Amino acid sequence: MEKYKMWIGGNWVDADSGKTFRTYNPANGDEIAEVPLAGKSDVDKAVAAARKAFPSWSRKTQEDRSHYVARIASALREHKDELIRLEIAEHGATARHAPIMIQFAAANVELAASAARVLMGKVLPATPSKGAPAGTSNTLCYLKYEPFGVCALITPWNVPTLLLATKIGPCLAVGNTCVVKPPSINSGIGLKIAEIISGLGLPSGIINFVTGPGSTIGNDLSSHPGIDFISFTGSSEVGKTIIANSSQTVKTTMMELGGKNPCIILEDADIEAAAEELCGITFENVGQNCAQPSRFYVHEKVHDRFVEKFVQTANNIKVGDPADPDTVMGPVVSREQRDTIERYIKSAIDEGAKLACGGKRPTGPVFDKGYYLTPTVFTGLTPDMTIAREEVFGPVVGFFKFSDDEKALEAANDSVFGLCASVWTKDYARGMKFVNELQAGSVWINQHMNLVAETPWGGFKESGLMKEGGVIGPEGYAQLKYVCIKHNQ
Ligand code: NAD
Repeated sequence: MEKYKMWIGGNWVDADSGKTFRTYNPANGDEIAEVPLAGKSDVDKAVAAARKAFPSWSRKTQEDRSHYVARIASALREHKDELIRLEIAEHGATARHAPIMIQFAAANVELAASAARVLMGKVLPATPSKGAPAGTSNTLCYLKYEPFGVCALITPWNVPTLLLATKIGPCLAVGNTCVVKPPSINSGIGLKIAEIISGLGLPSGIINFVTGPGSTIGNDLSSHPGIDFISFTGSSEVGKTIIANSSQTVKTTMMELGGKNPCIILEDADIEAAAEELCGITFENVGQNCAQPSRFYVHEKVHDRFVEKFVQTANNIKVGDPADPDTVMGPVVSREQRDTIERYIKSAIDEGAKLACGGKRPTGPVFDKGYYLTPTVFTGLTPDMTIAREEVFGPVVGFFKFSDDEKALEAANDSVFGLCASVWTKDYARGMKFVNELQAGSVWINQHMNLVAETPWGGFKESGLMKEGGVIGPEGYAQLKYVCIKHNQ
């Protein structure tokens, strides 16, 4: 087990209380990390350090800041083996998936460093003011981007390194300083990233890490008068609490929240190929990705064929030790999360959905101490079922049958969430009708969850506020100032 400290104001510190907590391997219950249990006074210190660092960091040239941020990207690559090891041990990421996520994290930070260098303001049409010769203008008016100040970056456990990196890159690149709060159950990964960053010679206090529960230090951060901007990724429920907390001092919030993402399969799609591809996407990371499909609307003419292929593929997924290179699906992240998922499985059965496969804990020596589940598919969903409406965030999906495009569209939009969606068809005109009318922040045709570093991400409705990352990443972490200069006095 590794012992970590928090990184505040350029120093390694314990919590003021001296208290710590532990993180565990979800595959076998082994202890992975001991980390400080921060309280309000620790949050105050981290915010003060970030405030102190802000003036000189924000006044650096963009070239200087981007060089520093690019170093973070390189360091993530240099330390990839340690991060991969921890993603497997503390999160349960599979040996085949973890390297892709670390590479993606580094690519995001690298892009943020470059994109900030071409963050352009706008010159407005000239407005004549008093004293301008007739027919001319004596003003220069423009909009320029400026950093918000001190940002709180709060992330969930489901893709730990990637989601932290996605925020840290653009946040620092445009001149903000920050306090990072990693998810409690992956705090070791958060503090390993702090350790990697601490070796880069960045100015003290521009990035600070505090560890502890959201219900205490998360609240302290989101209601802190010294925080100007909050970037949060997590559940819609917690997002609403943070918005409420932040309203007391009118902070700007960027919210990347939950989803209940529909996939619509039209009868002319390449059914077998679509079922196989979608099944792979659905159960990657044990169904713990916000963008994964969870509601399938399948045309009645191809419903049974699609389900049969999907279930056959799901039954062939190798569930096992995440460190084994052949494993496709490792454990769920924690005992609590598995309990929650099992409650959803029970509710689906109780409410009349038909279990087509899975719904069980796999058995055998490798599974005894871990939080494993089998890929689970329900058919015969109706819109009022809990499983059709609430985000499960685990390896559980459900199927609806439809016969009419309009009704499928209406059903897909009948959700408080609006994160992402996909439609599968060879008829692009028909597909475009869905693209234009689906209430979702991202829509794909004949693919799902195809995301690269350049992709900005963010949902509609209760799935979030603002887009984060990608080519517009730096814009999200900056505010616009209007400037108007009268010349030719
Ligand atoms: P969560 O909302 O429980 O926790 C997220 C983070 O918020 C954690 O660091 C937690 O400690 C902290 N937190 C909890 N209560 C808080 C409070 N009152 N104030 C401030 N911070 C608080 O989410 P989770 O269970 O860690 O992650 C799963 C959720 O994240 C799912 O809903 C998933 O859809 C969502 N998610 C969304 C995206 C996206 O981009 N839209 C990406 C990944 C995950």
